[in-house]
Amino acid sequence: MYNSKLETLPLEELRALQNARLSSLVERVYRDVPFYKKKFDEKGILPGDIKTVEDLRHLPFTYKTDLRDHYPFGLFAKPMDQIRRIHASSGTTGKPTVVGYTENDLEVFHEVVARSLACAGAKPGMIMHNAYGYGLFTGGLGIHGGATKLGMAVIPVSGGMTERQLIILQDFKPDMICCTPSYAQTLAEACKKAGIDTKDLNLKYAVLGAEPWTEAVRSQVENGLSVSATNIYGLSEIIGPGVSQEDYEEKGTGSYIWEDHFYPEVVDRDTGEPLPYGEEGVLVFTALTKEAFPVLRYWTNDICSIYYDKSEKRTHIKMSNIKGRSDDMLIIRGVNLFHTQVEEVINGLEFLQPNYQLHVKKKGIMDAVEVHVEVQNGVSAEDASLAQHFSKRIKNSIGLSMDVVLKNPGDIPMSQGGKTQRIVDLRK
Ligand code: ADP
Repeated sequence: MYNSKLETLPLEELRALQNARLSSLVERVYRDVPFYKKKFDEKGILPGDIKTVEDLRHLPFTYKTDLRDHYPFGLFAKPMDQIRRIHASSGTTGKPTVVGYTENDLEVFHEVVARSLACAGAKPGMIMHNAYGYGLFTGGLGIHGGATKLGMAVIPVSGGMTERQLIILQDFKPDMICCTPSYAQTLAEACKKAGIDTKDLNLKYAVLGAEPWTEAVRSQVENGLSVSATNIYGLSEIIGPGVSQEDYEEKGTGSYIWEDHFYPEVVDRDTGEPLPYGEEGVLVFTALTKEAFPVLRYWTNDICSIYYDKSEKRTHIKMSNIKGRSDDMLIIRGVNLFHTQVEEVINGLEFLQPNYQLHVKKKGIMDAVEVHVEVQNGVSAEDASLAQHFSKRIKNSIGLSMDVVLKNPGDIPMSQGGKTQRIVDLRK
């Protein structure tokens, strides 16, 4: 554990710390960010009214559109001479949103990433192969800073140039790799093609994030790269990667949110009302300690649940894997659909591998989904009974009929380093 004192803080003390940090945060944003002052004034709320995290529910949400309306620096709470770095979201869903960091924000960023990497199995002295993109995306530099803080030797490989990545994996012998899950799939496939026995590599851990993924991809990556793979979650508006992390000894139970810095709520997608622990809704974060770019109740659009589980390792709350972004949700014939649901069905079928895309089409006046998915090596993509079997499984578990197109291994475009496109919308 990187910071055992804070990661195991008794819940009462954690709440007291959060409340103190929240009070200071609301004072700061009211004083320094006109956008928040206006919002408070409109609601007739004074900073002193917000005393505990329970009071957060009285505050309005902050949305991605608010960031865009104040593009690029309008929500910064510090003058430029105190800003040490500027990042932008990868713009997956539109114009990039810009965020800034003070010296102290970078310290916090590196601290939470160091905690996350340790939680994923990293130890000082290990070598980190960082295949997250370097640049405006928070992934590359964020992981780099945290790995350095933990005491790792970082190879700043960045994304892409897969052949060179294979050489580095073989020759530099990294212990841990960090990249998107879809790029880890690409690397696993590339190793197979190049005849590299990944058991001979020194790689032990993969820390995967920046896009939704499921157990199907975990199995493929763990087998394909001979690693233990865990989930890292984050978003630039809150800090970047390292908002939460899955423990390598508690796989499948969710990811610890470093809630001394990032206070989570899960709210109803339609009403915005906070939901009880364990219920699925939109994840909302208040960044309790951020200085340059503080955010109150940021609507992430990501769908998951939060809960305290029985783990005795840490006291912090966990979040379930992200099902998808609320705006990525397809509504097909009245049924809500995330691509991760199809990925879960793939997981149960030995003849498929989780390299897939959902093609959304018009069928008459109705929307329809066609699943393109690769078969495993040695399986025939022409076998109509396999397609039928998959289609039936989808119908049984998701409740929707989908056409299935089986593809040969290597036929679905794979990630070249960044986030991958699972949904191809052909309706327009
Ligand atoms: P953009 O919104 O442009 O993609 P970011 O690079 O900041 O900008 O990406 C943050 C988003 O990426 C999150 O809100 C979430 O949707 C997704 N994401 C990040 N990590 C994960 C993860 N481990 N699982 C699922 N989704 C993730």
